[in-house]
Order: sequence, then C-alpha cells, then structure tokens
Amino acid sequence: MKVLDTLRGMRDLLPNDLAKRRRVESVVEELFRLYGYLEVETPVLESYALLSAKVGDENRHRMYVFKDLGGRQVALRPEMTASVARLVAGKFRMEAKPLRLGYFADCYRYDNPQMGRFREFRQAGFELLGSSHPEADAEILLVACDLLRRLGLRFSVKVGHVGILRGVLQAGGVGERDQNVILGLLDKHRLRAALKALRSLGVQKQCLDLVKALQRIRGDDHDRVLEEGERLVVSNETALAALRNLGAVLRLLGLAGMGGSVSADLGFTRGLDYYTGMIFELYVEDLEIALGGGGRYDRLVENFGGDPTPAVGCSPGIDRIVLAMEKQGLFQEKLGSGMFSVLVVPVAEEQAGLGLKLAYALRSEGVSVVNDVVFHGVGEALGMASKVGIPLAVIIGPREVEKGVVTLRDLSSKTQSEIPLDEVVARVKRML
Ligand code: AMP
Repeated sequence: MKVLDTLRGMRDLLPNDLAKRRRVESVVEELFRLYGYLEVETPVLESYALLSAKVGDENRHRMYVFKDLGGRQVALRPEMTASVARLVAGKFRMEAKPLRLGYFADCYRYDNPQMGRFREFRQAGFELLGSSHPEADAEILLVACDLLRRLGLRFSVKVGHVGILRGVLQAGGVGERDQNVILGLLDKHRLRAALKALRSLGVQKQCLDLVKALQRIRGDDHDRVLEEGERLVVSNETALAALRNLGAVLRLLGLAGMGGSVSADLGFTRGLDYYTGMIFELYVEDLEIALGGGGRYDRLVENFGGDPTPAVGCSPGIDRIVLAMEKQGLFQEKLGSGMFSVLVVPVAEEQAGLGLKLAYALRSEGVSVVNDVVFHGVGEALGMASKVGIPLAVIIGPREVEKGVVTLRDLSSKTQSEIPLDEVVARVKRML
C-alpha cells in the first residue's frame, strides 16, 4: 500500500461525492420532519460485548474489534439498530411510546470490498418503537419508498416475513441458534448448503421440502402468493400467523397506493438475527445489491434489559443510493456550479483590505463570495471563476479605488461597468 492511498474499503469523499451525499441526506432530513422522526446520534465506538451480543453472527465476524488504551474490548459499530435499542432500553425508557427515531451513521464492516460494498459506509435510519401493529410496519416501508421516489429512482421492493421460515424450521425441530445459521445461508442464496446443514441436524424430508418450496413462492400478485403459502404450511400456526401478518402489511401498502412495485417473497431472509417479523429490501434494476433494508425486531430492546418494546425500522444505505442515482443519470449538475456567486478580485495587495470589506458586506447580505488571495492577475482570476461557474466578479484596482468605484463584470455576457462603492451590494443582489 502506498502512503497516499486510503486503507482498502475506505474512501476519501471529494466535494463532488459530498454534494451527492448531501442531496440524499437533505431528503432524508425532510422525511424525518414529514413523518415525525426525531434525530439521535450515538458513538461510533461501542463496547464489543454490547454489539456482539445483539448484531448476529454475520456482522459479529466482520466487526473492527480492538482493545483501547484502558484495556477495554471495543468495536466500531457495524450498524445502528443495536445502539438505538440500547438508547430505548436506557435513556428513553420512560419516554412515551411510540417513539420515532431517525439517524445518520457511519458504519464499519470488514466486508470484501466491491462495487457498492465498502468497509466504511453511511446509513440513514428510521426506527419506530412501541407498536406491534402492521400499520407501523407499513409506515416504515412507506417512508423508505418515499425516500427513493423523491430522489427520482426507479426501484422495487421485496417483502417477506421471518416467521414463515422460522415456523417451518421450528416445527422441524430446529432450535433458534441453528435457525439463525440456516437463515444466514438462505440470505446468501446458499440453498444447497442450508439443506445440507438441515440434513446433518437430522431434519425430516417433509421440512426440507417445505423450505425448498417456500423459496419459489414470490410475486407481485400478493393474494396468490399468500394463498400458496397458506396451502403449504397448513397446520403450522407460527407460519400461518406470519403469513396473515404479512398479508395485513401488504394490504395497507396497497391502500396507501404503493402496491405495484412490491414483490412478496416467502423464502426471503435477512442476515441479521434480531428480526422477528416483516422484513424488506429495496432494489434498483441496475444494481444487484440492496439499497436499503429493514424489518421488525420485537425483542431487541428487551434483550438489552429494557421494557418489552415491539419495534420496526429500516436503514437506507446512502452510498448505494448515490450509486444508483449515478447509474440512473440523476445527477446532472456540474461540480460547484451555482454554489458560489461572486469572485472579489483585488488587483494588488494594496486593494486587498477594501476587497475583504466588500466581501464581508456581501456575505452579510447572504451572498456567497470567494476572495482572490493569490494576485495572479485579473485574467487568471476570471478564468478560474468561469471554470467553477461563478457568475459575477468584482474587480478592484488602483484606478477604481481612486474613483471610489469597482468594476462589476458579468462573466456569462462578458460585459462590465463601474459601480460606486456604496451601490455594489444592492447591484450584485439585483443581478443574481
Ligand atoms: P443492513 O444493516 O445489512 O440491513 O444494511 C442496510 C443497508 O446498508 C444496505 O442495504 C446497504 O445499502 C448498506 N450497506 C450495508 N453494508 C454495506 C457496505 N459494506 N457498503 C456499503 N453499504 C452497505
């Protein structure tokens, strides 16, 4: 590795990257407001014991873990739901429920870097705590879809319910820990490995056939999918209850006008162990990896020692949303264009004081001003302004100072005129 490189899977974000990220984040912030979510921030570093107990096998193995100088075992958070549940079990214990919390969080996973997969990445999140009703699940799905829709993305949603497969596995005699392993394999589309693991646990053929059959039941005709599911799991109460709950959530989405792009998928699982109900992921055609996902986690707050608190949430991944927007051509503006309005160019150091004073007066009126600080000549300064899309330049030379004026140049029409000093601010504001 060269000294000037970042670590593998880590990125420097340059102004253009940040402008794109901000565009996505500004819509997330608007949704916090529109849906009534209050923003929280928690530490990037948490105790290893706390994170490892809750995040599930897959993320546990990918955590950055180390001892701090005090000898404590700590880890960089791989996701935020565990930290939010910790907050709700502790500081928000007495807070009225339901509680709606939003966040932005840099997260860390020692993943294998590839397109859209980094070791440091950013998630936004919406967590709705204190309701077990399908209306809460529907709200989380709606807010996630609203985000992508507002950003102009064409996308689809995959929705399932962990209770279906868990019910089937439970009836087959598979304990919760082994269920987690099987669901983890299915999440990675490793059906054969999952079936092999089930066989080695001595699970009967009937259960294996059910797991296999569920993998094939999916589609946007929700009634058909649910009916097929019910026929398969006939006498399994857990799986039937899960199907009914999934049906209720899907019907609410339909009522909210969201039916079309939603596919119900009965074999769908997610890699995190804490899910207890509805789960979902968001996709765009041009990317195979999910842009965001979420689900219901009714036991997590209690596992942290809090009161029983049913909860549901989602985390859209900011980096992948940006990637999808790039692929769908949704960023057209040029870097920096329109960001800065005026370049103030003192011709020599003698005019720099007046330049600073004018820049300050303009900024006080809300006009963004870039000050020339290198004195390489007016020509070069104007060339730089055009390159980054600054529309106006205020030029101050000795001749202007003597006359009590400045030269105000419009860089697109290439016209200019002399303006008395005390009229500059008003004139600039009129021209912008
Ligand atoms: P998860 O916490 O695994 O449910 O992930 C939620 C979202 O975070 C995913 O859909 C991605 O958009 C994003 N995400 C997860 N892991 C990564 C990663 N290694 N790099 C970039 N984004 C990620």
